[in-house]
Amino acid sequence: MDNKAIIKKIVKTSSASVKEIVELLKGDTDYLFYEADKIRQEYCKDEVHLRAIIEFSNYCRCDCQYCGLQRSNKNLKRYRMSIDEIAENAKMAYDAGYKTMVLQSGEDSYYDSDKISQIIKDIKSIGDIAITLSVGERDYIDYKKWRLCGADRYLLKHETADKDIYNKLHPHSSFERRIQCLKWLKELGYQTGSGFMIGLPGQTLNTIANDILLLHEYDVEMAGIGPFIPHPDTPLGNLKTGSSILTLKAVAIIRLLLKRPHLPTTTALEVSSSDNAFFAGANVIMRKVEPYKYRRLYEIYPILNLREKSIKEERREVEEYIKSIGREISSSKGDAIIIKNSEVS
Ligand code: SAH
Repeated sequence: MDNKAIIKKIVKTSSASVKEIVELLKGDTDYLFYEADKIRQEYCKDEVHLRAIIEFSNYCRCDCQYCGLQRSNKNLKRYRMSIDEIAENAKMAYDAGYKTMVLQSGEDSYYDSDKISQIIKDIKSIGDIAITLSVGERDYIDYKKWRLCGADRYLLKHETADKDIYNKLHPHSSFERRIQCLKWLKELGYQTGSGFMIGLPGQTLNTIANDILLLHEYDVEMAGIGPFIPHPDTPLGNLKTGSSILTLKAVAIIRLLLKRPHLPTTTALEVSSSDNAFFAGANVIMRKVEPYKYRRLYEIYPILNLREKSIKEERREVEEYIKSIGREISSSKGDAIIIKNSEVS
């Protein structure tokens, strides 16, 4: 089968083999992106969802080998935002037009179950806001409590579907635990997001194919794919940045195969290549909204020249950009897209 035939088959059957995905990852982009964009149009229309992300703490118990927030990085100044500061920040983002707040942090046990619950309640009392949590691996009872407090969504990237690579890169945890958490989140009714990085050491095209199939298996409602960007204060600091073209291809294949997930054009992609994935199937973009004094310290990967702008100004700029590429700004909260069975043959 040539790549065109593979693409048609994946679109029609919503299934793919590792071999087929690898062929697409090796192949040309024109038809792949064209078809991915068509499916995006069909399922998501021209709406782009804008999400505000509040990176509220850079303390982390973990030692993810690629991440600048890893606990072994002693060069990083650590910060925590107070509950009131987080709520005020969310209010400002809401006033600027954001209807989804993504709350992300390192794995910081200072924010225990009650504190996170309080943050959820405070933000929910501001207005009709969807809350996405992204605070890593926690116990089932925490996830359950936060869901009952009103958290709508959860992002927990699987990072890599290769168990050995995963366990090497995450000495503090395990692949099994990561997947267990994902299963709990789905079971609890969170709109669940996962995703992975392109360019991790040891990763092959087969690994990426398995990454894509893992997202398919767990039928995720959101998926973030970004290139790995080396951080000098980590053990992987001397490696190369992941390929942006492979990242775009992965996004496109996910759109063909899974159809409905919300797919952001990730910040890592923007940072590493000034590319965006809007023409390869993406329909979401996030903007940081926490004060710049914190933004500078949320150094997952090196942060380049930040130009200070107000939340409103930044929102206006993204809106302009989205309109300039012929897309629309969504006025909804952008919940998960549900497909009726009859729609997928
Ligand atoms: N503690 C939370 C949030 C992690 S940071 C959690 O465990 O889910 C959010 C994401 O940043 C990670 O899931 C990872 O995919 C990405 N990330 C971390 N370091 C990175 C790097 N050096 N390059 C690219 N992406 C990175």
